[in-house]
Amino acid sequence: MSLVCELCGKNLHDDNLFCPWCGADAPRGTRKGEPKPENITEPQFCPLCGYPCPEGSTFCTSCGHNHFKKPEDELPLYCPVCGSKNSSKAQICYQCSHSLADWFSPKGEAARRQGQTIPFVLNETMNGFTYYFTNADKISIGRSSDNDICIPCSFVSGHHMEIDMKNSKLVDLSSTNGTYINRKPEKIGKVYLNIVNEFNLAGNFTFTLVRNNAFFAIRLSAILEEDECRRNGDGNAFDDLRKSYQVAVEGNGKILIGKTNGKLAIDTRVEEIYWEIEHDQDYMYLSDPVQGVYKQLIKKQGYGLAPNWRVEN
Ligand SMILES: [Zn+2]
Ligand SMILES: [Zn+2]
Ligand SMILES: [Zn+2]
Repeated sequence: MSLVCELCGKNLHDDNLFCPWCGADAPRGTRKGEPKPENITEPQFCPLCGYPCPEGSTFCTSCGHNHFKKPEDELPLYCPVCGSKNSSKAQICYQCSHSLADWFSPKGEAARRQGQTIPFVLNETMNGFTYYFTNADKISIGRSSDNDICIPCSFVSGHHMEIDMKNSKLVDLSSTNGTYINRKPEKIGKVYLNIVNEFNLAGNFTFTLVRNNAFFAIRLSAILEEDECRRNGDGNAFDDLRKSYQVAVEGNGKILIGKTNGKLAIDTRVEEIYWEIEHDQDYMYLSDPVQGVYKQLIKKQGYGLAPNWRVEN
């Protein structure tokens, strides 16, 4: 009989008292007899109780302790890599020389073992928005499906335009119906990105930009002749585009996601409740100040995040 975690839905082993991925209590009463310990080839040991847990897990399956939280002083410290018992003050394991100080540092081993790196996709199921985090140099937009952003409408050229973040340019790729910026009537060829507040493809599809020193994000915000565009395109795809952001990550810094409207912002003065997404070195962190959550590592597959968040590679 296989056990499933009631909180995160992952499969559990018979022997688990706690879910290794989200830390929830494992369901009881479904076991027959004594559970056999899980056979793990390369275990990760609980620093508090020394129990062998699955590789890549966050919580001890025996005592529920977070593997990356240093146990209280005075208690012995089990090496997460080899399981040897060290003194509470040990900086490196006396047995295998692994750095214990680095293991418990928020930017250290926890991030390297568990952190989600860019690119990845974040789905927020409450507001229905999808955020495509990328570290590519360019974002291409056009009718063909091989673009980063595909607009299936016959008014849009196959490869209509691109945003070249590396050289800070917005470039029209000789499109039939043109690219426009900042509501001006002239078609553009190539312009500096820093003068662009919004841009429009074919006189119909308007995108807005959100940017700071670390993030550059765009989203389809308006369709001018919408009925006409829907008759000449795929309206469902337009609806999806309105609820998705392409987010280029260019440096260390923070961006906000509105909890109720899903919109990205850089300004906390707006009357809204936000999640704060931070990029620091190679990893992403989540803060939710209203809930008292600060700089929580965004993990692969979203383990440990709120249930309304889904993370995909
Ligand atoms: Zn779980
Ligand atoms: Zn433990
Ligand atoms: Zn060790």
